Amino acid sequence: MQPLPKKYNFAEIERKWQQKWEEMGIYHFDWNDTRRPAFSIDTPPPYPSGEFHMGNVLNWAYFDIVARYRRMRGFNVLFPQGWDCHGLSIEVQVEKEHKIRKRDVPPDQFRKWCEQLVEKYIALMKEGILKLGCSVDWTTEYRTMNPDYWKRTQLSFILLHKKGYMYQGTHPVNWCPRCETAIADAEVDYERREGTLQYIRFPLEGSSEHLLIATSRPEFIPACVAVEVNPEDARFNKYIGKKIVVPVVNRVVTVIADEAVDPSFGTGVVMICTYGDKEDVKTVIKHKLPVVRLLTENGRINENGGKYAGLTINQARKAIVQDLAADGLLEKTEKLPQEVGVCDRCKSHVEILEVKQWFMKTRVLTDAVEKTANEVLWYPDYMKTRLIDWARSLDWDWVVSRQRVFATPIPVWYCKNCGELILAEEEWVPIDPKLENPCIDTCPKCGSREFIPERDVFDTWMDSSITCAVHAGWPDRSDWKRFFPADVHPSGIDIIRTWAYYLMVRHLALFGETPYKSCLINGMVLGSDGRKMSKSLKNYVASPEVLGKYGSDATRQWAAGGGATGSDIPFRWPDVEYGRRFLVKLWNVSAFANKLLKDYTPNETAEFALQLLDKWVLSKVEKLTQKVTEAMENCQFNIAVEEIRNFTWHTLCDCYVEAVKDRLYRPETHGEAKKTAAQHTLYEVLYRVLQLLSPITPHLTEEIYQAMYADYKGCKSLQLSPWPEFEQALVDEEAERRGDLIIAVIAEVRREKAEKRLPLNTRVKKLTVYAGDRETAEMIREGEGDITGTCKVVSLEVLAEKGSGREIAQYPEVHFVAEY
Ligand SMILES: [Zn+2]
Ligand SMILES: [Zn+2]
Repeated sequence: MQPLPKKYNFAEIERKWQQKWEEMGIYHFDWNDTRRPAFSIDTPPPYPSGEFHMGNVLNWAYFDIVARYRRMRGFNVLFPQGWDCHGLSIEVQVEKEHKIRKRDVPPDQFRKWCEQLVEKYIALMKEGILKLGCSVDWTTEYRTMNPDYWKRTQLSFILLHKKGYMYQGTHPVNWCPRCETAIADAEVDYERREGTLQYIRFPLEGSSEHLLIATSRPEFIPACVAVEVNPEDARFNKYIGKKIVVPVVNRVVTVIADEAVDPSFGTGVVMICTYGDKEDVKTVIKHKLPVVRLLTENGRINENGGKYAGLTINQARKAIVQDLAADGLLEKTEKLPQEVGVCDRCKSHVEILEVKQWFMKTRVLTDAVEKTANEVLWYPDYMKTRLIDWARSLDWDWVVSRQRVFATPIPVWYCKNCGELILAEEEWVPIDPKLENPCIDTCPKCGSREFIPERDVFDTWMDSSITCAVHAGWPDRSDWKRFFPADVHPSGIDIIRTWAYYLMVRHLALFGETPYKSCLINGMVLGSDGRKMSKSLKNYVASPEVLGKYGSDATRQWAAGGGATGSDIPFRWPDVEYGRRFLVKLWNVSAFANKLLKDYTPNETAEFALQLLDKWVLSKVEKLTQKVTEAMENCQFNIAVEEIRNFTWHTLCDCYVEAVKDRLYRPETHGEAKKTAAQHTLYEVLYRVLQLLSPITPHLTEEIYQAMYADYKGCKSLQLSPWPEFEQALVDEEAERRGDLIIAVIAEVRREKAEKRLPLNTRVKKLTVYAGDRETAEMIREGEGDITGTCKVVSLEVLAEKGSGREIAQYPEVHFVAEY
């Protein structure tokens, strides 16, 4: 046994083990191992944002606890790490840093800048993952921006195209006019903003009457294609079928009827524009109305806006409202609190444009998604409804094309002569159609030799929604199905609608199988004020600050113990501090054991003269093992960490160690055999605590293991030791019942000393215990040695009768009188 230093230096210990584990290769996933069962974690590749924030700390702590626990359970664990590089946020950042718009520079140059920025960001985030001590197998690292990954995204597209899941269509899509690209429903955030409701008169044709329409988007008046009322509304149904004049542009449209109109909202009369919102889209399709496209792709009014052409949306609104007022058609305006859809990358107001795009048929899969979601194991269970509700709420198929630069190209060309679509063959990928021609000489339809490349690129979710298959080795490994579906897909509560959903539809469509067997959900990290952590709210804490001040093991305890799995977790410095104090406590008790075990040679098979309290603590640690194992199996990390901390702090340190100190220090009074029994017990119980704790606080537990246990337990790392199996036979209820009483007596005597302000080692000349009955008296006598030793009692008398004196907590029948 090697000595432990007196002081616990977390920074040094954590750095050392992070390096050594890497050298030992204990994170290495053995692709060819057929002996151990595999356990694969579908690590979601993060967007490189340049910062490993506390939310990431929470995510990766969960992933890593699962990985380390499963390794100890004998699994060959696949803990991969990729980077989801493409994305609007990188483009937006590059535009900002270089003070350009993406179309101002050659695409090659723009891509290069994006790649450089991504690499810088990855390095920063990787440092965070390493500092947290995550047991990632770095040989699996990948970047979705590399052609090797393009190959996978493009191949999945080709296969889905062949299966009929991919189509091109001119449909309304969410459009960010600032980013100039289509975006999916999942990329639309909703913000509360104060709008203005304008009450506008629409004159009826050939009449002096008018209908009053309330709208918050008067700028869309030039794109008005109908006016709508509820057929049940007695005020207006007489106008159904009548012609009405659209102000400003003086176009005539028809008043139509639809039950969807809410007579109590606004004036009960609605204008239908192409497109003011999603409701307009539904109405246009239902009533087969014409489409007047009003906006350009960069959010300006086009030629259909007449005199307003060229204005921005906001300029057009002002001009139109002014003109309406001048014409006497603006009756009044009101403030209107409203929820508006904004681009999740740049927060611009999202518009709806009808443009030609690539879509994946996702809505046909909704029933399959629901069925599969119900078969998947969710931690916690109620999270599955979030996925199902989301799938059910989708109105449109998934628009998978984007008008961007930094993304995976869509492997498609068009014949310049006849327009025939040329889909890349599976063996052509990776390929960028903008740089290379299709590997055929002529158009199969018309024989032309000229091709036009597809300029659109893929939504970044097309890259990241195939990870379960990619992590398993698809398509390179013929045996990839051995590691598929993933055993667990961990996900934040906020990305169930994207990540968990897209993974599900892509894999169901591609392989007809669920991508993951279970889904582990983490909540959001809140600031100490209970609001979502954010820099603008000044409740933001950067992870390097936390890791630097308290280290990984303390921070991981905060992540594991901050709240129930799936719930939001507040970041509070005192929680991390508490984690740190616990580690110091564990270090101190280990250093104490280390000192007192110098003359002890571990021997698991020897017979020991176990005393009551030895049996008591051995039974309790067995029950702890059961509780922690159950909690880890159910991903209830908070329960696991609480149980271990309570046991260590109270049962082990406060009670057991205090009660057997005398046996350890003074074998001459107790006998060598009883001392050895205490040494053996202390040694094994501490080992069990280290094992149970090691997935959560791997560094400190490894350090203690190496000094005190490695030589005897035989594993080169605690991380490779087999997880302890709960053994019912080792539970001794009777010893626990009796031991609890002895502990209570010791605690009460110590409490009395403390109240009398006597040092704990003050001698008690005589301790008279009134047990109340014979059985209790015998139980107390059984612990005589530990009571007298711990409480420094010179003479102990245990009487079966009832008596007066100080009552022992939890044992109202038992009293004692101590003479000092
Ligand atoms: Zn945007
Ligand atoms: Zn052709």
